[in-house]
Amino acid sequence: MRILVVEDEKRIADFLTRGLQGAGYAVDNAPDGITAIDFIHATDYDLVILDLMLPDMDGLKVLERIRSRKVGPPVLILSARGQVDDRVKGLEQGADDYLVKPFAFVELLARVRALLRRGQPTPEKLQVGDLSVDCVRRRVTRAGESIDLAPKEFGILEYMMRNKGRPLSRTMIVEHVWDMDYDGLTNIVDVYIRHLRSKIDDRFPQKLIQTVRGIGYMIDAPDKPAAVKPPEPAAERQV
Ligand code: CA
Repeated sequence: MRILVVEDEKRIADFLTRGLQGAGYAVDNAPDGITAIDFIHATDYDLVILDLMLPDMDGLKVLERIRSRKVGPPVLILSARGQVDDRVKGLEQGADDYLVKPFAFVELLARVRALLRRGQPTPEKLQVGDLSVDCVRRRVTRAGESIDLAPKEFGILEYMMRNKGRPLSRTMIVEHVWDMDYDGLTNIVDVYIRHLRSKIDDRFPQKLIQTVRGIGYMIDAPDKPAAVKPPEPAAERQV
């Protein structure tokens, strides 16, 4: 999940970025309206957090540009203007939610999660074989056993599970899980996949994370291997 934070006050932008990254999201920051519009055209964000008082233009102008696109991300307006007028205007122009500064980070996070759920056609609980991911509580279990994942590991797993059975390239994974400050190699994905495998696959006979040669990775639980391969004679199976 990738979030764009449009905020010119560095202190608030940093605070939001750190908090959201800690919650496992990839975060980009645009300090003004022009940059925000550029970013929105270049990247598919899952959510935009938008300050209204920007140095170069009114945040509502940015909102207008987002809403002029066919499929735009949900927008959460964040502003010091608490007046009812502004709130109504923002919502009328297509914002999905409105939070007045100052705010508690837990409240922002709750609203962010609610908006991201709304935009997701897939359920909050993902399942591949006996592996379950609760995206709201950010809990992972396999065969009933709870597994601790680091935020990036969780981000990769969630992205793969939402695309169950679909091969994903390293670039796709990097773009969904890392923000644009990350300009390293996509090899980092291999490192994280290794960590993920050691946590969710190594101890189990059925491997869920699959390497797709020439492409990248995919998660799937082929539940009927017998349908693909004819059953072997019982004597051979014991070897
Ligand atoms: Ca501002």
